[in-house]
Amino acid sequence: KLVSREFHPEDTVIRVGDVSIGNGGLVLIAGPCAIESEEQALTIARHVKEAGAQLFRGGAFKPRTSPYSFQGLGEEALRILKKVRQETGMPVVTEALDHTVYDLVEEAADIVQIGARNMQNFSLLRRAGQSRKPVLLKRGMSATLDEWLMAAEYILEGGNPHVILCERGIRTFAHHSRNTLDLSAVPVVRKESHLPIIVDPSHACGRRNQVIPLSRAAVAVGANGLMVEVHHKPDEALSDGAQSLYPEQFRRLCREIEPLIGLY
Ligand code: PEP
Ligand code: MN
Repeated sequence: KLVSREFHPEDTVIRVGDVSIGNGGLVLIAGPCAIESEEQALTIARHVKEAGAQLFRGGAFKPRTSPYSFQGLGEEALRILKKVRQETGMPVVTEALDHTVYDLVEEAADIVQIGARNMQNFSLLRRAGQSRKPVLLKRGMSATLDEWLMAAEYILEGGNPHVILCERGIRTFAHHSRNTLDLSAVPVVRKESHLPIIVDPSHACGRRNQVIPLSRAAVAVGANGLMVEVHHKPDEALSDGAQSLYPEQFRRLCREIEPLIGLY
């Protein structure tokens, strides 16, 4: 298999602008769940950049459980993301919700995200395989590692070798946490595959007070990066406010993981 270490013994390193993912350092991706306005996006982008984030995240097309919830600003958000890149120099990550918006999203994004709910959306995976833009493939909420790696295989087999895996928590019986962060996936994926793997503690736990400890653990277990939700006014966030860190907390996260980088 193309995703396996047997096929490709060296770690895959993905370059986005002057950021490398999978090279032994740690990439930090941060930003709001959703782009809500230009002012919101730029404010948060400046905060996270100053704290040490290398990439900015923000949803334009949002996969919401309820059709009545905020669905994202769509194309307007893509325009805002371009502005964020222009103003801050940070490459941007945003989700393509289905293959029909892929053209629009890949034109605007530096990394195209495929969300947990879409991990086995095969038309989307095939479309991502035809792209030259790196893809951030999130683990489905009940996917085994084999299913996840086979989803990545679709993209590689389609001709796009630039895939980053993202562990974001799986569904269990736990109620103390939105999902259960499966950190045991990290060393196993790193052994089985050459693809970089990052961890999203925000969607895993759903509560901001668990994000920093889970981030430390993810770095210690050998993740190639973190993706964290940050909002300057989480109480007013249109989605995922409860798990969004205040900018000050994100600065603390950056300080606390620093001594753990490269330990593994
Ligand atoms: C996200 O990262 O914006 C998101 C919706 O996450 P997930 O697909 O992991 O739920
Ligand atoms: Mn979110």
